Order: sequence, then C-alpha cells, then structure tokens
Amino acid sequence: MKKYDYIIIGSGPAANHLLFKLARTKKTALVIEKGFWGGTCPNTGCQPKIFMEGAVRPVLNTYYLSGKGVEKPAKLDWNALIKRKKLIWAEFRREERSSIENEQVDTVFGHGVITGPHTVEAAGQEYEGENIVIPTGLRPHRLEVPGSEYAITNDEFFDLDELPAKTVVIGGGYVALELATLMQAAGSEVTVLQHSDRLLRPFDQEYVEKLTQMMTDRGIQIKLNMPVEAIAKTAAGYEVTAENGQKFAAGLVVDASGRRANVDGLGLEKLGIKFDPIKGVAVNEHLQTNVPSIFAAGDVADNGQLNLTPVAWVDSYHIYDFVENGLEEGIKYPAVATSTFTYPQIAQVGKRESEMEDGDTVRRMKLGATFASLGEGDTNAELKVIFNQAGEVVGASEISINAGDDINLFAPLIGKKDPAKFAMNNLGFAFPTLANKLDVLFR
Ligand SMILES: Cc1cc2nc3c(=O)[nH]c(=O)nc-3n(C[C@H](O)[C@H](O)[C@H](O)COP(=O)(O)OP(=O)(O)OC[C@H]3O[C@@H](n4cnc5c(N)ncnc54)[C@H](O)[C@@H]3O)c2cc1C
Repeated sequence: MKKYDYIIIGSGPAANHLLFKLARTKKTALVIEKGFWGGTCPNTGCQPKIFMEGAVRPVLNTYYLSGKGVEKPAKLDWNALIKRKKLIWAEFRREERSSIENEQVDTVFGHGVITGPHTVEAAGQEYEGENIVIPTGLRPHRLEVPGSEYAITNDEFFDLDELPAKTVVIGGGYVALELATLMQAAGSEVTVLQHSDRLLRPFDQEYVEKLTQMMTDRGIQIKLNMPVEAIAKTAAGYEVTAENGQKFAAGLVVDASGRRANVDGLGLEKLGIKFDPIKGVAVNEHLQTNVPSIFAAGDVADNGQLNLTPVAWVDSYHIYDFVENGLEEGIKYPAVATSTFTYPQIAQVGKRESEMEDGDTVRRMKLGATFASLGEGDTNAELKVIFNQAGEVVGASEISINAGDDINLFAPLIGKKDPAKFAMNNLGFAFPTLANKLDVLFR
C-alpha cells in the first residue's frame, strides 16, 4: 500500500493552499478528485462568474450612462462570450491536474472513501496517509419538488451556449442574484423566485433593498415569499408553479436555492465521524474531526464560517501550522470581506449596521455624489462604517459598482482606532481612487 504524509480528498481551494505550503517541505501528498481539478471556485463558481461579469459590467455601465455621455448601452453576445469562456477553460482544465502534481504530490481521479483512521480507497486502490484531509466542499442542493430535475444549477450554467428569452432563477442568495444579473444583462427576461421575505441575508439589508430596486428597475422581476411547488416540462419550455398557485413560464430554470455538504459515501459513518448532511463535518478549533488523524477544511467544515474561498485558504494554512509546526492556538479567522458580484455590488466586512451594539456608531458617506461615481453613473453608491465605543472600526458595508474591490481597503482597518491616521501613515493609495473615500469619510 503506497504511503503518504497527507491524503487529501478534493482538489479545491482548501486543498490547494495546503499543497502550496507542503511544497516547501519534503512531505508527500495524494490528492483524490472525482470532479474537475481545482474544485468549485475555478470551475463552476467564483472564476467563471467573474469572467462573465467582466463582460456584463460594461453592458450595465453603459446602460446607466446612456444619454449621459454614452450614446447607447452595449449589447452582450452571450454565445460568443460562452465560446470564449469554453476555450479558456478547456486550456485551464488540461493544465490544472498537472499543475498540482510534482515529485511530492500524486493525484488520482475517483471518489475517495475513508476506510480507516489512516486509510483511503479510490479508483480500486487503498492508500495510507499519516493525515487525512477532507476538503470535499458543497454541491448544489436541489429543490425537493416534482420536476426539480428540469432545473440546471451553477454546475451547468457557465457552459450554456444559448440563453432563452425567459428564465426563472430559484433562490435569493448571492449565487441566484449574480446569475440573474448576468442573464438579464444578456437580454433574457428574468424572474427570481425566493421562498422567504429576504434576499442576501449576510449583507446590509438597506443596501439589499437599494440593489433590489435597481434590479427591478432594469426589468428583473423579484418575487419574495414565493416557494416553488413544482416544475413541469411544457411544449415551449418549462413552467414553474409556486405554492400559491402562480405560474411562471421559462425556457430555462436555474436552481440556486442553496448548497449542501459533499459527505455522501465518504465512509464517515463507519468511522463514527460526526457530521451534518447539509452543513458538513464537525470539527474542533484545529479543524480535527473526532478521529484525530482526520481533518475537514473549507466549505465542508461545519464551524460556522462563511463558505468562501478565502476562508478555505485560512483553513488549509491552519492545518499545516497545526500538524507541521505544532501550533497550539486554535484557528483564528481574520475579518473576511465578502461581496456580491451583482450590479451594483454589495460588499461587507465585520459588523453590519443591524448588528450594532450599545455605544457603536455609524458613519455614512454618499459615494454617489463623488466625481468618480458621477462619472461612472453610479449615483446610488454609498458606504457606511461602524465604529465601537472605543472609536475602533468594527465593520463596513458598501453598495457601489466597485464595492467588491473597495471593501478590501476596510478589512485592514478593522480594529484600528484612528483609521484616517492609520491609512495616511500606512496605506499610500493612488488618488483619486479609494483614497478619495477614506479621506472624505475619516477626516
Ligand atoms: C456560483 C458560485 C459562485 C461563487 N462565488 C464566490 C466568490 O465570488 N467568492 C468566494 O470567496 N467564494 C465564492 N464561491 C464559493 C467558493 O467556490 C467555495 O467557497 C470554495 O470553492 C470552497 O473550496 P473547497 O476547497 O472547500 O471546496 P470545493 O472548491 O467545492 O472543492 C471540493 C472538491 O472536492 C471534490 N470531492 C467531493 N467529494 C469527493 C470525494 N468523495 N472524492 C473525491 N473528490 C471529492 C469535488 O469534486 C470538488 O472538486 C462561489 C460558489 C459558487 C457555487
């Protein structure tokens, strides 16, 4: 039986960053992957999304600037964009597996099953590992309604050659609203069906309302409190029926109703490893399962963190530091910023206004009135920063077409007492860029 220092089941961001670290040692690893090498983020998540957003952004930018110095909105050619996407990804997918392999790291294609505290089976072979890491991620949670098989998920979305005239998106999280944004900008008539009365729960709800209004003004129909009861195939496409009897016809139905843990068939039950079928594998402060040689990392680790790529990176670095450097302190997450890549974007780091405690204060800045935002037609742009009683920055939220980038400025300011001074002394920004926002907000 071939022996490794680490057997890693899954090749996503949580695995990748552990491999970067291990590359600096003489440790050996086996990576087992049953899907696309590189995991969700580069194949069916963040990366194809941001690639598509790159083309959608000028379309929507010119939509808002139309008649204000720009003649008419740009038009998106979906088919050409997907063709280009497929070409780029074909190359990426050809190279990704070989970029993981080196003299220390072997790869196997197949479904990994843990057979013992130090053994894993994949593709008919058993392997031995001093440590086993489970970064198996999440997969789309399919609605449990008749006809759910007619809906596609993000797994298929980024390879759609044609976009029908009408689409229905089920869900109200960032994936649902981002995909709705892409499709509407490409000319499809989009309806979003959300089961509850709220969208984008982890984000500032005042900004979510602004975003919802702007999306609605662009023609996206957003229906709240609209749980779906069934999806049926019709001669013209599909019909989605809500629990209240309303019917929505569409040429394409996208199920973005949520994601669930990839824990099936991993052998967890046999070893008595604790897990939740939706949220994932129970871990301690070192991401160890109740079997000490077996760790879980990234989205599948059930420890209350947001399911995001930068969180997966932090996890894999911690496992390395714990196992290789004997780090005693439990995992500490920085204030991880997050953004919707809708148009405009809503970004967030630290506390939201709704989480303010006694003594906290909020400062707002109408970014939409700055020359930069006026120039971009981003007149609804706004920023709010939350301070605690001691005057330290404890959170920031922004709605603007650059919010996803801007928020990275506020992450290092979390916990800083005099942010203006800190920024001026430590962060030498070009002007007029983000510095504009800092200067006006904090001076
Ligand atoms: C549409 C979409 C957009 C997103 N956008 C963003 C974003 O903008 N920013 C952000 O930070 N995050 C984003 N995310 C989330 C991000 O993709 C995840 O947080 C990240 O990929 C988690 O990394 P991971 O390594 O934990 O898991 P994954 O990347 O999911 O990798 C897990 C891998 O394990 C494999 N696997 C599972 N079970 C087995 C098994 N038994 N045997 C072998 N292999 C197995 C899977 O095939 C998969 O390749 C997005 C996700 C989606 C779906």
